[in-house]
Amino acid sequence: MPQAFANDVLIGQGAQPEEVFILSLKKLETQTIFIPDSDAELVETDLLIIGGGPSGLTAGIYAVRSGLRAAVVEREALGGQVATTPIVENYPGFTSVGGKTLVDIMVSHALQYVQIFQGEAVMDLQVGKPITVVTTRRKFLTKSVLLATGATHLHLNVPGESRLSGRGVSYCSTCDGPLFKGKKVVMVGGGNSAVTEALHLFHMGVDVTLIHRRDKLRAQDFLAKQLSDNNIAVLWDTEIKEIRGKERVEEILIVNNKTNESSTFETNGVFIAIGYTPAVELAQKLGVEVTADGYIKHDGKHRTNIPGVYSAGDVEGGYKQIVTASGQGAEAAMTIFEDLINPYWLN
Ligand SMILES: Cc1cc2nc3c(=O)[nH]c(=O)nc-3n(C[C@H](O)[C@H](O)[C@H](O)COP(=O)(O)OP(=O)(O)OC[C@H]3O[C@@H](n4cnc5c(N)ncnc54)[C@H](O)[C@@H]3O)c2cc1C
Repeated sequence: MPQAFANDVLIGQGAQPEEVFILSLKKLETQTIFIPDSDAELVETDLLIIGGGPSGLTAGIYAVRSGLRAAVVEREALGGQVATTPIVENYPGFTSVGGKTLVDIMVSHALQYVQIFQGEAVMDLQVGKPITVVTTRRKFLTKSVLLATGATHLHLNVPGESRLSGRGVSYCSTCDGPLFKGKKVVMVGGGNSAVTEALHLFHMGVDVTLIHRRDKLRAQDFLAKQLSDNNIAVLWDTEIKEIRGKERVEEILIVNNKTNESSTFETNGVFIAIGYTPAVELAQKLGVEVTADGYIKHDGKHRTNIPGVYSAGDVEGGYKQIVTASGQGAEAAMTIFEDLINPYWLN
């Protein structure tokens, strides 16, 4: 099997998707996980899992351990959002672990059971018996599909935001809030998520100020009342124009959009909760129903409105954590096993 070395570091082994190889080359990172490549043009499975984040990988482990022939297809980096997380401190079993390390552990665990096709995107699906799934590299015929395609945060798209992401800029108070205990942060947004997360930070002992671009919150009244009951400051009609800091966030440049007055505001952190975009293009192509917020509609067993098509993880909405996504992946795989031996749609 050919091996690729750069500066004496083993960065690739065997045939790898181009993106993965380039990533390893750029980072000059020793690759410990090697995903076997496949030339198969047609693959038949009982379950095809779309998305190699925590929900998809966990579903793969549970499905194969139940006796199903399952495969995971991932278009980008395995691990999904976890691959971009600097440190994870709330996944049981690890008091503090790098996102990349956690992904490597999850992937090597999953590889013991499930075949993974990395670097190929699912382009099309057609419901039938079997369901046909077309990726950028091959075709799958499968009895069931799990949509574990995740979601992405909306960004402010202001200077400094991406550079300081993970260095004071955060999209998750549950994940990063404890790091800011006794420090000063701003929470950006005006909906239920932003207000809930501001309250969450406040109860963790963080000095939080809410920044909202309008003069009224979209959040429900009982949440808004808790803000005032706890004397949490709100900057109304205010937008962030720049996030500044050398190594970490130090201050923000803000502007009042009614008066056009700009000023700076010292802060240790900027939490952003202005919404998510769930990855539901494939679901919509199939005719899977989505909620008013755009997430996949599902029942308590992760079944969608289309028999044989299931969902798990952030694409379903909810708490959007690694542990919840993994749990949902496990639940969905167990339902799929039960449904394939006793199809509920025939009863
Ligand atoms: C910066 C950051 C920090 C975070 N920190 C924490 C933390 O500390 N603790 C915590 O619990 N949670 C954290 N989270 C949240 C956590 O990472 C997510 O809740 C979790 O990854 C969701 O898992 P998932 O499998 O549902 O989706 P994702 O992780 O989003 O994975 C979905 C995967 O599906 C793939 N996909 C989508 N469409 C296709 C397609 N058509 N074909 C093939 N593949 C496709 C995507 O490429 C992606 O890899 C963080 C998130 C971010 C962004």
